[in-house]
Amino acid sequence: MKRFVLALMLGLGVATFASVAFAQDHEFRGGDFRMGIDWKEPPIVTPGETPADPPSDAIVLFDGSNLDEWNGGKWDVADGVLTCKPGTGAIFTKKAFGSCQLHVEFACPPVDDPNARSQARGNSGIFLMNHYELQVLDSYENETYFEGQCGAIYKQFPPYVNCVKKPTEWQTYDIIFTRPILRTEKDENGNEFVAEVIRPAYITVLLNGCVVQNHWAIQGDTFFHRTPQYQPHADREPIQIQDHNNKTQFRNIWVREIPDSNVVPCQNHMNYYN
Ligand code: MG
Repeated sequence: MKRFVLALMLGLGVATFASVAFAQDHEFRGGDFRMGIDWKEPPIVTPGETPADPPSDAIVLFDGSNLDEWNGGKWDVADGVLTCKPGTGAIFTKKAFGSCQLHVEFACPPVDDPNARSQARGNSGIFLMNHYELQVLDSYENETYFEGQCGAIYKQFPPYVNCVKKPTEWQTYDIIFTRPILRTEKDENGNEFVAEVIRPAYITVLLNGCVVQNHWAIQGDTFFHRTPQYQPHADREPIQIQDHNNKTQFRNIWVREIPDSNVVPCQNHMNYYN
C-alpha cells in the first residue's frame, strides 16, 4: 500500500510539473488553448465550381484556347485540347515555379499500332521544375517496368496502384510538389555542383482521385540511363510537358504557388483569435 501511495504521489508530481511547463509555453484564455503565435491571416480564395476548375488564385496555364503561357514544341491546339506534335519537342511554361499545386488532365491516344507496347504507348511526362518527371503513359493493359508506368516518379517510385483509364478517356493528375533546397559550390573549373541536399523535393500525387505517391522524397533527376542525382538549378524553374513521340493530349492545366513552409510568421500583430 505504501508503495502504491508513493507511486501515486510521484505520478501526480510529474503530471503537475508537465502541465505547469506546458502552460508556460502556451497561452490559455478562459480555458481555451492558444498557440501564442501571431499567424498571418489565410487569404480568401474562391474555389472552382468543381475540384477540376481553377480556384481564384490559380495561374491558368492552358484553358483550351492557346499556348500563350508556353514555349517550346509546336503542339496543336484544337477544340479546347492540346495535343503533342511528336518530334517538335517538349513544351515549357514561360513562368517558373517552385513549390506548387498542379492540376493537369490528359488522355492517351488510341492504340492504332498493335506493336506499340510498354513505353511506346501514350508516353509523355510532367517535369516539375524541369527536372523531376511524373510519368504520363498508357498503362491500361500495357505492361512495362513498374517505376516507369503511369503515376511513377520515373525510375524512382512506382505508383501505389494502377488506377488509369482506357486510352482516349480523360484522366486527372493533382500534384502537390515541394521544391528541393540545394547548397551548391563550384569546383576548380568553376562548374557548379550540388554540395549538399538541405531538403529533397517531395511529391504527393492523386491520379484520377487515387493517391499514387504520398510525400515521397524525390532522389534527384529522372533519367532512364543512370541513377538519380540532384543538379544545380534555380529556386523556380519552368514546368515541362514531355514530347515522347506520342500524340498524348492535355487540357485544363492550372497551377497554384504554395509556401515552402506552413509556418509563416506575421509581421504585424493582429489578434483574430477572439
Ligand atoms: Mg515519359
